[in-house]
Amino acid sequence: MTALRRRVHSLADIPLEDLVAQGVQAIVLDLDNTLCDPHGDELPKDAVAFCAKAKALGLRGFILSNGARGRAERLALALGLPCVSRAKKPLRGAYRRALRELGVQPQEAVAIGDQFLTDALGAISMGMALFLVEPRVRRDKLLVRLARPVDRILRRLLPYA
Ligand SMILES: [Mg+2]
Repeated sequence: MTALRRRVHSLADIPLEDLVAQGVQAIVLDLDNTLCDPHGDELPKDAVAFCAKAKALGLRGFILSNGARGRAERLALALGLPCVSRAKKPLRGAYRRALRELGVQPQEAVAIGDQFLTDALGAISMGMALFLVEPRVRRDKLLVRLARPVDRILRRLLPYA
C-alpha cells in the first residue's frame, strides 16, 4: 500500500472497497477543502456519505486538521470521528498520534487530503498511502492561498487514478 499515491477529483473517486481488500484498516482525513468548505460550518452530503461508507466497510477514520480548535472538533464530532486540530502537518507528530489512537501501522492507513505541502508531504514522510483530492473551493484561507501556486506545481508529481 505504501506505493499508492494518487490524485483524484473527489472523495467519490477513492476506491474504498479496493483499499479494504488490500488490507487498509483506517483513513486519516484532512478537513478543510477535503471534507468541507474551509469557510463553512456545514458538512456536504457527499462527505457525510463517504465517511458513512468507509465506516460501513469497517474502516476507522481520523481527522487531522491544521485548522483551529473548536470548529474542527465540532465537524469531526458531527461525523463521529476523532480529531486532532492544529495538527502542524506535514510534521509527523499528529500523524503518529492518529495512528496510535487508531491502533494501526502506517502501511495499514491511507491519508486523504487536498494540499501537497501539508497532506501529501506528511503522508509521504510517514510512509502512508495517499489520495490527493481537488480542493472543493478556490476561496482558501490566506496562508493556504499563498502556498497554492507551489502546491499546484508539486501535485503534478502524483499520477492521476
Ligand atoms: Mg485541506
